[in-house]
Amino acid sequence: MRVLWFCIPAFGHTNPTIEVVRELVRRGHEVRYYSFEDFREKIEGAGAEFVPCDAYLPPIDEKAERRLRKVSTTEMSVQSFRTVANLDPLVSADVASWRPDVVVTDSACFWGKLTAAKHGLPWVCSTTTFAFNQQSSKYMSHSAAEMADILFGLPRLNRGIRKLRPLGYEVKSALDIVSNKPDDNTIVYTSRLFQPCSETFDEEHYRFVGPSVRDVTPKEKSGRPLVYASLGTVINDRPDFYRTLIDAVRDTSVDLLISCGRAFDPAQLGKMPANVRVEQYVDQMEVLSRTSLFVTHCGMNSASEGMWMGVPELLFPLTGEQRAVARRVAEVGAGVPLEEAVAREAAALRKTVLAALADERLREGAAHMREDLRSCAGPVGAADFIEQVAGLS
Ligand code: UDP
Repeated sequence: MRVLWFCIPAFGHTNPTIEVVRELVRRGHEVRYYSFEDFREKIEGAGAEFVPCDAYLPPIDEKAERRLRKVSTTEMSVQSFRTVANLDPLVSADVASWRPDVVVTDSACFWGKLTAAKHGLPWVCSTTTFAFNQQSSKYMSHSAAEMADILFGLPRLNRGIRKLRPLGYEVKSALDIVSNKPDDNTIVYTSRLFQPCSETFDEEHYRFVGPSVRDVTPKEKSGRPLVYASLGTVINDRPDFYRTLIDAVRDTSVDLLISCGRAFDPAQLGKMPANVRVEQYVDQMEVLSRTSLFVTHCGMNSASEGMWMGVPELLFPLTGEQRAVARRVAEVGAGVPLEEAVAREAAALRKTVLAALADERLREGAAHMREDLRSCAGPVGAADFIEQVAGLS
């Protein structure tokens, strides 16, 4: 079987796919994966053929870059439409000559979804966030700024859509591309229990295969508890928050490790107390194996990895999607919300951190989710489903 795979340039969307690719290759299938240089090593390491798309991303000016840094949905969609057009000659020729049996595309990857539609190929949607339909998207509470961005961006989006028509792409709207439709064959990298409104997604088309993570054996937790904080790899430029967190654990019997991202140099945070370490990037799964409390932005992957390891979470979401994940982690009892006001004040934050560390019910909630996520079908179930959609089983 030949699998044509597409993903956007984001770790959170790429990482969960890697073990599925490895499983397909192990079964003797060919996987051709359109992605970006940052992910080449991982993709080739899983045995797929890597096709770099970096040169096809549209050049972006300063204004667009500022908008993208704020995760503007409009700007991301406009850039995505341009990428579809740029990639069209390459992908269309590839489809004609390589003749894939099935397309697998990330749910937010316009060029993957539109390629499957244009060429009438069977396809599977790879959803690394929750599956979002009319019901479950109510979990995303958008800020006023996010709403304004979506509303005022419509004319720009429509112009982008019109330019795609002559190339053979029929697009209703950006929202129509990214939403999860009832009949779309979809892999979701979480459990039915964790998915909000899971009863609205049928068994035939939706496979909740659980997070696709590299497992690590948990370490015995004795001595000083470790608090690990990360705001992920996209919007993590929050030195103010890291400073408050450092002050919160100063002179406590807790150790703190912060992964601050590559946006700034940790040295900018000044001299660290002996119980604090700040890194730009860590091996998150290894760190979680010895963590007692995970302060997380609730990226779907981070939140899932924390639950996979049975680590209670302090939930500090920054976008609509992350707020949906945070709400669900709290609902299943594996985490507690960290209010913005508390996150701004060291004494209040210290109280919250210490209370979460002492919370027995929270530990039980996290342990329950650990069992639940580990009972899912995983990469083997995802590979079975892709074969089924391609007509192999
Ligand atoms: N990650 C990591 N080390 C770090 C920070 C992040 O390995 O120091 C990984 C993390 O394990 C997760 C991914 O990067 O798999 C982040 O994805 P997520 O969906 O949580 O957030 P995003 O970065 O997309 O906002």
